[in-house]
Amino acid sequence: MGNRCPDCNKFVSLDVAEPEAEQPEVNGDDVSVDVRVVQICAECNGEIKEWNATLEEVLNDEATIHKEENPDDDKHVIEAEWQQDPEVEDFYRPREEPKPNKKGVIKPVPLRFQTHYYKVSGAIDLSCSCGKSLGSIQVESEIESSSFDDLT
Ligand SMILES: [Zn+2]
Ligand SMILES: [Zn+2]
Repeated sequence: MGNRCPDCNKFVSLDVAEPEAEQPEVNGDDVSVDVRVVQICAECNGEIKEWNATLEEVLNDEATIHKEENPDDDKHVIEAEWQQDPEVEDFYRPREEPKPNKKGVIKPVPLRFQTHYYKVSGAIDLSCSCGKSLGSIQVESEIESSSFDDLT
């Protein structure tokens, strides 16, 4: 779709590579983690576009309560770790919500009136340095495909 790959010099379609995820960090009541998502040349795997996403979520109740029960105690430091590698998916969403016609029927929106998005998401396990496990949280972020940064 109009992407010329500088490596193989062809007009190519793009695939998305496995996301490159940093380790999650706990800062106060927040967990944040950087994930790099790259669209690659379907022919030669050359990198064409990237998205450096920062996924953020607040701690769950379990971790918040455990923190509150053990204030200013350096034996209780909340830690976060990926449950499994985050996943990338892409999808289309209508630019405007489809409205029912006169008969009350909502017709599917044609693709040309929809926007292409990418979403990265995953589950993060929370635990305390005292050994207590504190459940998990879900993190995600999405952008329009056109908002990826060009690498070419
Ligand atoms: Zn290529
Ligand atoms: Zn603890």
